Amino acid sequence: MADSKIVIRVIRRLGQEYSKKGDMDFGNAKDTLIAVLLSAQTTDKQVLKIYPAFQKQFPTWKSLSEADVREIEKSIHTIGLYRSKARAIKKMAKMIRDEFKGRVPATMEKLVTLPGVGRKTASCVLTYVFHEPAIAVDTHVSRIAHRLGWAKGNTPEKVEKELMALVPKKEWMEINRVFVQFGRDVCVGGKKPKCWKCPVAKWCPYESKIGEPER
Ligand code: SF4
Repeated sequence: MADSKIVIRVIRRLGQEYSKKGDMDFGNAKDTLIAVLLSAQTTDKQVLKIYPAFQKQFPTWKSLSEADVREIEKSIHTIGLYRSKARAIKKMAKMIRDEFKGRVPATMEKLVTLPGVGRKTASCVLTYVFHEPAIAVDTHVSRIAHRLGWAKGNTPEKVEKELMALVPKKEWMEINRVFVQFGRDVCVGGKKPKCWKCPVAKWCPYESKIGEPER
């Protein structure tokens, strides 16, 4: 298991390399929450494609709470699981209107009571919008944490717990943002991470590191 000094070095080094904000970080709670929810089982690209029209059609929680669920479905029909997501968004809009005075709650405990919201979505909202420490474990975070030897767990919840125990709290917010970009660019899924151009290779114990392919 890595020590926390190495963990900090890895996160900071990757932070220098990947400075872009998260694709689903819309800078406000409503749009970030809905976009992250939509992005489950779908690429961020797909969400970014439909989101401007969706945002225009449903600019407020009120408009979403009063919308016919079929209108919401129509607006997101290119997104995976769009029917269940449309139902969740409508229920969520009603709950935010009726129980949270029209504002997205800013704690993990309350966020996960919203329909369709699990710990990963809640963690993205907490870090992106409220700048609260949380670790959103998605497929990139989980894969990279395993390769770096930071986690062994086989569920996102177990990996989240392991990372919380290992990574100093002040670094939590960076993990999802930098690992997602690093995971798309270098430490990619499948059997061929591009280890020859990895800026943190010297701190990585992954036994199947891949050298530069011959040209
Ligand atoms: S050395 Fe390879 S496996 Fe390890 S973090 Fe870098 S890209 Fe990923």
